[in-house]
Amino acid sequence: MFEQARLGYDFAALEPHIDELTMQTHYGKHHAGYTNNLNKALEKLPELAGKSIEAILTNLEAIEDPALRTVVRNNGGGYYNHNLYFAILSPQGGQPPQGRLAEQINADFGSFQELVERLTATAASVFGSGWAWLSKDPSGKLVITSTPNQDNPLMTHGGQLIPLLGIDVWEHAYYLKYKNVRADYLQAFFKVLDWGEVARRYEQA
Ligand code: MN
Repeated sequence: MFEQARLGYDFAALEPHIDELTMQTHYGKHHAGYTNNLNKALEKLPELAGKSIEAILTNLEAIEDPALRTVVRNNGGGYYNHNLYFAILSPQGGQPPQGRLAEQINADFGSFQELVERLTATAASVFGSGWAWLSKDPSGKLVITSTPNQDNPLMTHGGQLIPLLGIDVWEHAYYLKYKNVRADYLQAFFKVLDWGEVARRYEQA
């Protein structure tokens, strides 16, 4: 039985960048829905009992029934992705990273500014609903990718990429405040992105 990770801040704490109603709906309805639907599907898959969500998502092929596999892909992805998304946001966010992550960003992208521009461009170019990602590969290198729907790098790269940062570009993440202007949401996202938490995940991955 999976449970939503607790929010480390109030729904209104990310105002004005991410509004309270969006947070209430996103966490309380969308994320809760993915979690409930994942748990319901797993009742039919007792062989997966006790496995971590990462283990389940890196080995979806183990689920033989194609319909049930799709349900776990969509809702297990939604569960994992939103746990990450909400954990890397903070009212104290927006400060550039330090330490080993900062060094790796400079090595892989030249500068922090260049990384932010590339992440923003990738997120802006996702067609329809999906995510942009910053992940760590087995050599420690940073990699930017995008996925449709609730897919993530655990699924697309068979566990070789560990997601550190996910940008949700589903319209439910921004439409109440930003309407169709995804670019404004992306600017706001980086103002509340907690690079300290991303750096912690980089060092643990
Ligand atoms: Mn979402």
